[in-house]
Amino acid sequence: LKHIAFKILCILSLSVLPIFSPNIFAQSNKDSNIGEDIKVANQFVRSALTERKGYHLLKELTDIGPRLSGSENSLRAIMWAKKKMEEAGFDKVWLQPVMVPHWIRGNIEQTEIVKSKLFKNRKLSIATLGGSVGTGKNGITAEVLEVKNFDELKALGNKVKGKIIFMSRPLDPGIIETFRGYGEAVDQRVFGAVEAAKQGAIGVMIRSITTKYDNVPHTGVMIYNDTIPKIPAVALGYQDADFVSNALKRDPHLEVNIKLNCKTLPDSQSYNLIGELTGTEFPDQVIVVGGHSDSWDKGVGANDDGTGIIQSMEVLDLFKRLDIRPKRTIRCVFFINEENGSKGALKYGKYAKDAPEKTLAAIEADAGSGTPRGFSIDADSTTIAKFRSWLPILRKSSIDWVEKGGSGEDVGQIKNAIARIGYVPDPQRYFDYHHSDNDRFSIIHPREFELGSAAMAILVYMIDRQGL
Ligand SMILES: [Zn+2]
Repeated sequence: LKHIAFKILCILSLSVLPIFSPNIFAQSNKDSNIGEDIKVANQFVRSALTERKGYHLLKELTDIGPRLSGSENSLRAIMWAKKKMEEAGFDKVWLQPVMVPHWIRGNIEQTEIVKSKLFKNRKLSIATLGGSVGTGKNGITAEVLEVKNFDELKALGNKVKGKIIFMSRPLDPGIIETFRGYGEAVDQRVFGAVEAAKQGAIGVMIRSITTKYDNVPHTGVMIYNDTIPKIPAVALGYQDADFVSNALKRDPHLEVNIKLNCKTLPDSQSYNLIGELTGTEFPDQVIVVGGHSDSWDKGVGANDDGTGIIQSMEVLDLFKRLDIRPKRTIRCVFFINEENGSKGALKYGKYAKDAPEKTLAAIEADAGSGTPRGFSIDADSTTIAKFRSWLPILRKSSIDWVEKGGSGEDVGQIKNAIARIGYVPDPQRYFDYHHSDNDRFSIIHPREFELGSAAMAILVYMIDRQGL
Protein backbone atom coordinates (compact mmCIF):
# COMPACT_ATOMS: atom_id res chain seq x y z
CA LEU A 1 0.00 0.00 0.00
CA LYS A 2 2.81 2.34 0.89
CA HIS A 3 4.46 2.13 -2.49
CA ILE A 4 1.20 2.62 -4.31
CA ALA A 5 0.33 5.71 -2.33
CA PHE A 6 3.85 6.92 -2.97
CA LYS A 7 3.49 6.28 -6.67
CA ILE A 8 0.31 8.29 -6.83
CA LEU A 9 2.02 11.13 -4.99
CA CYS A 10 4.92 10.99 -7.42
CA ILE A 11 2.60 11.04 -10.36
CA LEU A 12 0.74 14.00 -8.93
CA SER A 13 3.88 15.94 -8.13
CA LEU A 14 5.30 15.24 -11.56
CA SER A 15 2.20 16.55 -13.21
CA VAL A 16 2.15 20.04 -11.78
CA LEU A 17 5.27 20.95 -13.69
CA PRO A 18 5.07 23.92 -16.00
CA ILE A 19 5.60 22.94 -19.61
CA PHE A 20 8.02 25.73 -20.40
CA SER A 21 10.76 27.09 -18.25
CA PRO A 22 10.83 30.90 -18.33
CA ASN A 23 13.54 32.41 -20.48
CA ILE A 24 16.23 29.78 -20.27
CA PHE A 25 18.66 31.95 -22.17
CA ALA A 26 18.76 34.30 -19.20
CA GLN A 27 20.65 31.59 -17.32
CA SER A 28 24.37 32.17 -17.18
CA ASN A 29 26.66 29.21 -17.64
CA LYS A 30 29.86 29.66 -15.72
CA ASP A 31 31.56 26.71 -17.34
CA SER A 32 34.03 28.02 -19.83
CA ASN A 33 33.87 24.72 -21.74
CA ILE A 34 30.34 25.26 -22.94
CA GLY A 35 31.46 25.10 -26.57
CA GLU A 36 33.09 21.72 -25.97
CA ASP A 37 30.05 20.46 -24.03
CA ILE A 38 27.72 21.44 -26.86
CA LYS A 39 29.99 19.63 -29.31
CA VAL A 40 29.79 16.45 -27.21
CA ALA A 41 26.01 16.85 -26.83
CA ASN A 42 25.66 17.03 -30.60
CA GLN A 43 27.77 13.88 -30.94
CA PHE A 44 25.53 11.98 -28.49
CA VAL A 45 22.48 13.05 -30.49
CA ARG A 46 24.03 12.16 -33.85
CA SER A 47 25.22 8.76 -32.66
CA ALA A 48 21.83 7.92 -31.14
CA LEU A 49 19.85 9.03 -34.21
CA THR A 50 22.07 7.43 -36.82
CA GLU A 51 23.01 4.13 -35.16
CA ARG A 52 19.65 3.50 -33.40
CA LYS A 53 21.35 0.82 -31.32
CA GLY A 54 18.89 1.15 -28.46
CA TYR A 55 15.94 0.90 -30.82
CA HIS A 56 17.27 -2.40 -32.22
CA LEU A 57 17.91 -3.71 -28.70
CA LEU A 58 14.35 -2.80 -27.73
CA LYS A 59 13.11 -4.93 -30.64
CA GLU A 60 15.10 -7.91 -29.33
CA LEU A 61 13.87 -7.35 -25.78
CA THR A 62 10.22 -7.13 -26.77
CA ASP A 63 10.55 -10.26 -28.94
CA ILE A 64 11.07 -12.15 -25.65
CA GLY A 65 7.49 -11.25 -24.66
CA PRO A 66 5.88 -9.74 -21.56
CA ARG A 67 7.96 -9.63 -18.36
CA LEU A 68 5.71 -9.76 -15.32
CA SER A 69 7.63 -10.20 -12.03
CA GLY A 70 8.08 -13.84 -11.13
CA SER A 71 7.52 -15.08 -14.69
CA GLU A 72 10.09 -17.13 -16.60
CA ASN A 73 10.04 -14.48 -19.32
CA SER A 74 11.12 -11.79 -16.89
CA LEU A 75 14.17 -13.87 -15.94
CA ARG A 76 14.89 -14.59 -19.60
CA ALA A 77 14.83 -10.85 -20.33
CA ILE A 78 17.15 -10.07 -17.42
CA MET A 79 19.68 -12.69 -18.58
CA TRP A 80 19.42 -11.43 -22.16
CA ALA A 81 20.17 -7.89 -21.00
CA LYS A 82 23.07 -9.06 -18.82
CA LYS A 83 24.66 -10.65 -21.87
CA LYS A 84 24.12 -7.46 -23.91
CA MET A 85 25.82 -5.36 -21.22
CA GLU A 86 28.77 -7.75 -21.15
CA GLU A 87 29.02 -7.69 -24.94
CA ALA A 88 28.96 -3.88 -24.86
CA GLY A 89 32.08 -3.97 -22.69
CA PHE A 90 30.74 -2.40 -19.50
CA ASP A 91 33.34 -2.55 -16.69
CA LYS A 92 31.08 -4.43 -14.29
CA VAL A 93 27.81 -6.27 -14.73
CA TRP A 94 26.08 -7.99 -11.85
CA LEU A 95 22.78 -9.29 -10.50
CA GLN A 96 21.28 -8.26 -7.18
CA PRO A 97 18.93 -11.00 -5.87
CA VAL A 98 15.39 -9.88 -4.99
CA MET A 99 12.33 -11.92 -3.96
CA VAL A 100 9.26 -10.78 -5.89
CA PRO A 101 5.50 -11.43 -5.87
CA HIS A 102 4.31 -13.99 -8.39
CA TRP A 103 0.80 -13.52 -9.68
CA ILE A 104 -0.42 -15.33 -12.78
CA ARG A 105 -3.33 -14.31 -14.98
CA GLY A 106 -4.33 -17.82 -15.93
CA ASN A 107 -6.03 -18.63 -19.21
CA ILE A 108 -9.61 -17.75 -18.32
CA GLU A 109 -10.77 -14.14 -18.18
CA GLN A 110 -14.32 -13.87 -19.42
CA THR A 111 -17.16 -11.52 -18.75
CA GLU A 112 -20.60 -11.78 -20.29
CA ILE A 113 -24.10 -10.40 -19.80
CA VAL A 114 -26.00 -13.57 -18.86
CA LYS A 115 -29.42 -12.26 -17.91
CA SER A 116 -31.22 -9.53 -19.86
CA LYS A 117 -34.00 -9.40 -22.46
CA LEU A 118 -31.99 -6.96 -24.56
CA PHE A 119 -28.34 -7.83 -24.06
CA LYS A 120 -28.12 -11.52 -23.14
CA ASN A 121 -24.92 -13.30 -24.32
CA ARG A 122 -23.13 -9.99 -25.02
CA LYS A 123 -19.45 -10.63 -24.20
CA LEU A 124 -17.40 -7.81 -22.73
CA SER A 125 -13.74 -7.03 -23.41
CA ILE A 126 -11.95 -7.29 -20.06
CA ALA A 127 -8.55 -7.70 -18.44
CA THR A 128 -8.13 -9.08 -14.94
CA LEU A 129 -6.49 -6.53 -12.66
CA GLY A 130 -3.06 -7.54 -11.40
CA GLY A 131 -3.26 -9.25 -8.03
CA SER A 132 -6.94 -10.13 -8.27
CA VAL A 133 -8.29 -13.36 -6.83
CA GLY A 134 -10.00 -15.79 -9.20
CA THR A 135 -13.72 -16.55 -9.25
CA GLY A 136 -14.00 -20.33 -9.09
CA LYS A 137 -15.15 -22.47 -12.00
CA ASN A 138 -18.65 -21.09 -12.48
CA GLY A 139 -17.63 -17.52 -11.95
CA ILE A 140 -19.64 -14.92 -10.11
CA THR A 141 -23.01 -13.71 -11.37
CA ALA A 142 -24.85 -10.61 -10.15
CA GLU A 143 -26.64 -7.40 -11.03
CA VAL A 144 -24.42 -4.41 -11.70
CA LEU A 145 -24.43 -1.04 -9.96
CA GLU A 146 -22.59 1.82 -11.65
CA VAL A 147 -20.83 4.52 -9.63
CA LYS A 148 -18.45 7.31 -10.56
CA ASN A 149 -16.54 7.53 -7.30
CA PHE A 150 -16.31 6.23 -3.74
CA ASP A 151 -18.79 8.84 -2.42
CA GLU A 152 -21.47 7.52 -4.76
CA LEU A 153 -20.57 4.00 -3.66
CA LYS A 154 -20.98 4.88 0.03
CA ALA A 155 -24.29 6.58 -0.65
CA LEU A 156 -25.66 3.27 -2.00
CA GLY A 157 -25.28 1.72 1.47
CA ASN A 158 -26.83 -1.76 1.75
CA LYS A 159 -27.87 -1.88 -1.91
CA VAL A 160 -24.28 -2.85 -2.76
CA LYS A 161 -24.61 -6.22 -1.01
CA GLY A 162 -24.29 -9.15 -3.43
CA LYS A 163 -23.77 -6.87 -6.45
CA ILE A 164 -20.96 -6.28 -8.94
CA ILE A 165 -19.83 -2.67 -8.70
CA PHE A 166 -18.96 -0.88 -11.96
CA MET A 167 -16.66 2.10 -11.45
CA SER A 168 -16.99 4.11 -14.63
CA ARG A 169 -15.25 7.46 -14.12
CA PRO A 170 -12.93 8.02 -17.12
CA LEU A 171 -9.47 9.53 -17.14
CA ASP A 172 -10.41 13.20 -17.66
CA PRO A 173 -9.37 13.89 -21.27
CA GLY A 174 -9.48 17.65 -20.66
CA ILE A 175 -6.38 17.57 -18.49
CA ILE A 176 -3.29 18.30 -20.58
CA GLU A 177 -0.94 16.53 -18.13
CA THR A 178 -2.00 12.94 -18.76
CA PHE A 179 -0.11 11.67 -15.71
CA ARG A 180 -2.27 13.91 -13.54
CA GLY A 181 -5.41 12.65 -15.28
CA TYR A 182 -4.25 9.11 -14.57
CA GLY A 183 -3.48 9.95 -10.94
CA GLU A 184 -7.01 11.31 -10.52
CA ALA A 185 -8.69 8.17 -11.92
CA VAL A 186 -6.49 5.34 -10.68
CA ASP A 187 -8.00 5.14 -7.18
CA GLN A 188 -10.88 3.16 -8.75
CA ARG A 189 -8.46 0.48 -9.98
CA VAL A 190 -6.19 0.34 -6.93
CA PHE A 191 -8.72 0.60 -4.10
CA GLY A 192 -12.02 -0.22 -5.83
CA ALA A 193 -12.21 -3.86 -4.70
CA VAL A 194 -11.56 -3.00 -1.05
CA GLU A 195 -14.07 -0.16 -1.01
CA ALA A 196 -16.79 -2.21 -2.73
CA ALA A 197 -16.16 -5.30 -0.57
CA LYS A 198 -16.52 -3.20 2.60
CA GLN A 199 -20.19 -2.80 1.60
CA GLY A 200 -20.70 -6.42 0.61
CA ALA A 201 -20.09 -6.35 -3.16
CA ILE A 202 -18.96 -9.64 -4.73
CA GLY A 203 -16.96 -8.23 -7.65
CA VAL A 204 -15.69 -5.06 -9.32
CA MET A 205 -15.43 -3.85 -12.90
CA ILE A 206 -13.66 -0.59 -13.69
CA ARG A 207 -13.51 1.49 -16.85
CA SER A 208 -9.98 1.12 -18.28
CA ILE A 209 -7.82 4.07 -17.32
CA THR A 210 -6.75 5.20 -20.76
CA THR A 211 -6.60 8.18 -23.09
CA LYS A 212 -7.51 6.05 -26.11
CA TYR A 213 -11.04 5.47 -27.30
CA ASP A 214 -10.83 1.80 -28.20
CA ASN A 215 -11.94 -1.48 -26.67
CA VAL A 216 -8.57 -2.77 -25.47
CA PRO A 217 -8.67 -3.27 -21.70
CA HIS A 218 -5.84 -1.88 -19.53
CA THR A 219 -4.66 -3.85 -16.52
CA GLY A 220 -2.59 -2.57 -13.58
CA VAL A 221 -2.09 -3.21 -9.91
CA MET A 222 -4.92 -3.45 -7.39
CA ILE A 223 -4.61 -4.17 -3.68
CA TYR A 224 -6.50 -5.98 -0.95
CA ASN A 225 -6.79 -5.39 2.74
CA ASP A 226 -6.45 -8.57 4.82
CA THR A 227 -9.39 -7.70 7.07
CA ILE A 228 -11.83 -7.24 4.18
CA PRO A 229 -13.11 -10.03 1.86
CA LYS A 230 -11.06 -10.32 -1.35
CA ILE A 231 -13.32 -9.94 -4.39
CA PRO A 232 -12.37 -10.32 -8.09
CA ALA A 233 -11.62 -7.18 -10.10
CA VAL A 234 -11.42 -6.55 -13.86
CA ALA A 235 -10.99 -3.62 -16.25
CA LEU A 236 -13.43 -3.14 -19.14
CA GLY A 237 -12.38 -1.81 -22.53
CA TYR A 238 -13.35 1.87 -22.77
CA GLN A 239 -16.00 1.25 -25.45
CA ASP A 240 -17.51 -1.65 -23.53
CA ALA A 241 -17.60 0.55 -20.43
CA ASP A 242 -19.76 2.94 -22.47
CA PHE A 243 -21.83 -0.01 -23.64
CA VAL A 244 -22.50 -1.27 -20.10
CA SER A 245 -23.32 2.24 -18.94
CA ASN A 246 -25.94 2.62 -21.68
CA ALA A 247 -27.25 -0.92 -21.25
CA LEU A 248 -27.85 -0.32 -17.53
CA LYS A 249 -30.05 2.67 -18.39
CA ARG A 250 -32.29 0.42 -20.49
CA ASP A 251 -32.10 -2.69 -18.30
CA PRO A 252 -31.01 -1.87 -14.75
CA HIS A 253 -31.48 -5.50 -13.67
CA LEU A 254 -29.23 -7.14 -16.24
CA GLU A 255 -26.84 -9.68 -14.76
CA VAL A 256 -23.18 -10.19 -15.55
CA ASN A 257 -21.03 -13.28 -15.08
CA ILE A 258 -17.27 -12.93 -14.49
CA LYS A 259 -14.99 -15.97 -14.77
CA LEU A 260 -11.28 -15.71 -13.86
CA ASN A 261 -8.68 -18.32 -12.98
CA CYS A 262 -5.84 -16.01 -11.99
CA LYS A 263 -3.95 -16.76 -8.78
CA THR A 264 -1.09 -15.71 -6.55
CA LEU A 265 1.81 -18.17 -6.15
CA PRO A 266 4.53 -18.03 -3.48
CA ASP A 267 7.12 -15.24 -3.86
CA SER A 268 9.76 -16.06 -6.41
CA GLN A 269 13.48 -15.40 -6.95
CA SER A 270 14.37 -12.53 -9.26
CA TYR A 271 17.04 -9.86 -9.72
CA ASN A 272 17.94 -6.25 -10.27
CA LEU A 273 20.43 -6.07 -13.13
CA ILE A 274 23.24 -3.55 -12.79
CA GLY A 275 25.90 -2.52 -15.30
CA GLU A 276 28.51 0.17 -14.85
CA LEU A 277 31.33 2.16 -16.33
CA THR A 278 33.68 2.65 -13.40
CA GLY A 279 34.89 6.22 -12.86
CA THR A 280 38.58 6.92 -13.55
CA GLU A 281 38.99 9.69 -10.93
CA PHE A 282 36.09 9.35 -8.49
CA PRO A 283 34.90 5.74 -8.73
CA ASP A 284 32.89 5.99 -5.52
CA GLN A 285 30.81 8.89 -6.81
CA VAL A 286 27.94 7.20 -8.62
CA ILE A 287 25.44 8.44 -11.19
CA VAL A 288 22.52 6.05 -11.61
CA VAL A 289 20.26 5.89 -14.64
CA GLY A 290 17.53 3.29 -14.76
CA GLY A 291 14.05 1.99 -15.34
CA HIS A 292 12.12 -1.16 -14.50
CA SER A 293 12.64 -4.46 -16.27
CA ASP A 294 9.26 -5.95 -15.33
CA SER A 295 6.18 -5.19 -17.38
CA TRP A 296 2.53 -6.13 -17.25
CA ASP A 297 1.57 -9.27 -19.11
CA LYS A 298 -0.67 -7.49 -21.63
CA GLY A 299 1.36 -6.29 -24.60
CA VAL A 300 5.12 -6.60 -24.26
CA GLY A 301 6.03 -3.52 -22.23
CA ALA A 302 7.78 -1.78 -25.12
CA ASN A 303 6.86 1.66 -23.81
CA ASP A 304 6.45 0.72 -20.11
CA ASP A 305 9.24 0.24 -19.43
CA GLY A 306 11.32 -1.53 -22.06
CA THR A 307 12.01 1.97 -23.34
CA GLY A 308 13.40 3.21 -20.02
CA ILE A 309 15.74 0.28 -19.39
CA ILE A 310 17.10 0.17 -22.94
CA GLN A 311 17.61 3.96 -23.00
CA SER A 312 19.47 3.64 -19.68
CA MET A 313 21.70 0.93 -21.12
CA GLU A 314 22.25 3.07 -24.20
CA VAL A 315 23.41 6.00 -22.06
CA LEU A 316 26.44 3.92 -21.03
CA ASP A 317 26.82 2.57 -24.53
CA LEU A 318 26.90 6.11 -25.95
CA PHE A 319 29.88 6.88 -23.70
CA LYS A 320 31.58 3.77 -25.09
CA ARG A 321 30.70 4.69 -28.69
CA LEU A 322 32.13 8.20 -28.29
CA ASP A 323 35.11 6.79 -26.40
CA ILE A 324 34.50 9.00 -23.36
CA ARG A 325 35.90 7.59 -20.13
CA PRO A 326 33.77 8.95 -17.28
CA LYS A 327 35.53 10.43 -14.23
CA ARG A 328 32.72 9.22 -12.00
CA THR A 329 30.96 5.85 -12.02
CA ILE A 330 27.95 5.64 -14.32
CA ARG A 331 25.61 2.82 -13.49
CA CYS A 332 22.48 1.62 -15.23
CA VAL A 333 20.02 -0.24 -13.05
CA PHE A 334 17.21 -2.45 -14.31
CA PHE A 335 14.91 -2.48 -11.29
CA ILE A 336 12.60 -5.46 -10.98
CA ASN A 337 8.98 -5.40 -9.78
CA GLU A 338 8.08 -1.71 -10.10
CA GLU A 339 4.60 -2.61 -11.30
CA ASN A 340 3.36 -4.66 -8.36
CA GLY A 341 5.54 -4.34 -5.30
CA SER A 342 8.70 -2.26 -5.91
CA LYS A 343 10.82 -4.95 -4.26
CA GLY A 344 13.73 -4.18 -6.61
CA ALA A 345 13.72 -0.47 -5.77
CA LEU A 346 13.61 -1.21 -2.05
CA LYS A 347 16.56 -3.59 -2.43
CA TYR A 348 18.70 -1.16 -4.42
CA GLY A 349 17.78 1.72 -2.10
CA LYS A 350 19.03 -0.28 0.87
CA TYR A 351 22.19 -1.23 -1.02
CA ALA A 352 22.87 2.45 -1.84
CA LYS A 353 22.30 3.40 1.79
CA ASP A 354 24.77 0.82 3.14
CA ALA A 355 27.44 1.01 0.39
CA PRO A 356 30.60 3.09 1.02
CA GLU A 357 29.95 5.01 -2.22
CA LYS A 358 27.98 8.23 -2.70
CA THR A 359 25.09 8.51 -5.16
CA LEU A 360 25.27 11.95 -6.76
CA ALA A 361 22.22 11.62 -8.96
CA ALA A 362 19.72 8.93 -9.87
CA ILE A 363 17.72 9.39 -13.08
CA GLU A 364 14.58 7.38 -13.78
CA ALA A 365 13.21 6.76 -17.26
CA ASP A 366 9.67 5.44 -16.83
CA ALA A 367 7.42 7.86 -18.64
CA GLY A 368 7.52 6.42 -22.14
CA SER A 369 9.21 6.92 -25.46
CA GLY A 370 7.94 10.36 -26.49
CA THR A 371 10.08 13.31 -27.56
CA PRO A 372 12.20 14.66 -24.66
CA ARG A 373 10.63 17.57 -22.81
CA GLY A 374 12.28 18.04 -19.42
CA PHE A 375 13.81 16.80 -16.22
CA SER A 376 11.83 16.86 -12.99
CA ILE A 377 14.31 17.11 -10.12
CA ASP A 378 13.97 16.27 -6.46
CA ALA A 379 16.91 18.16 -4.92
CA ASP A 380 17.72 21.42 -3.12
CA SER A 381 17.48 24.71 -4.99
CA THR A 382 21.24 25.17 -5.43
CA THR A 383 21.50 21.79 -7.14
CA ILE A 384 18.49 22.53 -9.33
CA ALA A 385 20.02 25.87 -10.35
CA LYS A 386 23.13 24.00 -11.44
CA PHE A 387 21.08 21.62 -13.60
CA ARG A 388 19.22 24.57 -15.05
CA SER A 389 22.47 26.25 -16.07
CA TRP A 390 23.02 23.26 -18.39
CA LEU A 391 19.84 23.93 -20.37
CA PRO A 392 21.64 25.39 -23.40
CA ILE A 393 23.44 22.03 -23.69
CA LEU A 394 20.43 19.85 -22.85
CA ARG A 395 18.42 21.66 -25.53
CA LYS A 396 20.51 19.86 -28.17
CA SER A 397 18.37 16.80 -27.44
CA SER A 398 15.17 18.90 -27.41
CA ILE A 399 14.93 19.14 -23.61
CA ASP A 400 13.01 22.37 -22.84
CA TRP A 401 12.93 22.60 -19.09
CA VAL A 402 14.41 21.61 -15.74
CA GLU A 403 12.12 22.03 -12.72
CA LYS A 404 11.75 20.98 -9.13
CA GLY A 405 9.37 18.00 -8.82
CA GLY A 406 8.97 14.28 -8.26
CA SER A 407 11.39 11.73 -9.68
CA GLY A 408 10.07 8.17 -9.95
CA GLU A 409 8.99 5.08 -8.08
CA ASP A 410 12.37 3.33 -8.36
CA VAL A 411 14.96 6.08 -7.87
CA GLY A 412 12.68 7.56 -5.21
CA GLN A 413 14.02 4.80 -2.96
CA ILE A 414 17.62 6.05 -3.28
CA LYS A 415 17.01 8.43 -0.45
CA ASN A 416 20.64 9.46 0.09
CA ALA A 417 21.18 10.67 -3.50
CA ILE A 418 21.90 14.38 -3.86
CA ALA A 419 19.41 14.54 -6.74
CA ARG A 420 16.62 12.16 -7.77
CA ILE A 421 15.48 12.93 -11.29
CA GLY A 422 12.57 11.95 -13.50
CA TYR A 423 13.13 12.07 -17.26
CA VAL A 424 9.97 13.53 -18.79
CA PRO A 425 9.18 12.88 -22.46
CA ASP A 426 6.03 14.12 -24.14
CA PRO A 427 3.14 12.43 -22.26
CA GLN A 428 0.23 12.74 -24.73
CA ARG A 429 0.25 9.14 -26.03
CA TYR A 430 1.61 7.34 -22.96
CA PHE A 431 -1.76 6.20 -21.56
CA ASP A 432 -3.01 5.06 -24.97
CA TYR A 433 -0.68 2.07 -24.54
CA HIS A 434 -0.14 1.75 -20.78
CA HIS A 435 -0.60 -1.79 -19.35
CA SER A 436 -2.48 -3.05 -22.41
CA ASP A 437 -2.10 -5.06 -25.59
CA ASN A 438 -1.40 -1.72 -27.28
CA ASP A 439 2.06 -1.60 -25.67
CA ARG A 440 3.96 -3.15 -28.61
CA PHE A 441 7.27 -2.44 -30.32
CA SER A 442 5.40 -1.03 -33.34
CA ILE A 443 4.25 2.01 -31.34
CA ILE A 444 7.82 3.11 -30.63
CA HIS A 445 9.06 5.97 -32.79
CA PRO A 446 12.81 5.45 -33.31
CA ARG A 447 13.81 9.13 -33.41
CA GLU A 448 11.77 10.13 -30.37
CA PHE A 449 13.02 7.06 -28.51
CA GLU A 450 16.68 7.67 -29.39
CA LEU A 451 16.51 11.34 -28.41
CA GLY A 452 15.60 10.11 -24.92
CA SER A 453 18.84 8.10 -24.74
CA ALA A 454 20.77 11.17 -25.92
CA ALA A 455 19.02 13.53 -23.48
CA MET A 456 19.95 11.37 -20.51
CA ALA A 457 23.47 10.81 -21.82
CA ILE A 458 23.98 14.59 -22.01
CA LEU A 459 22.68 15.07 -18.48
CA VAL A 460 24.89 12.25 -17.15
CA TYR A 461 27.86 13.72 -19.05
CA MET A 462 27.38 17.13 -17.42
CA ILE A 463 27.08 15.61 -13.94
CA ASP A 464 30.19 13.55 -14.62
CA ARG A 465 32.19 16.60 -15.81
CA GLN A 466 31.13 19.00 -13.10
CA GLY A 467 30.04 16.87 -10.12
CA LEU A 468 27.28 17.97 -7.79
ZN1 LIG B 1 6.46 1.81 -15.66
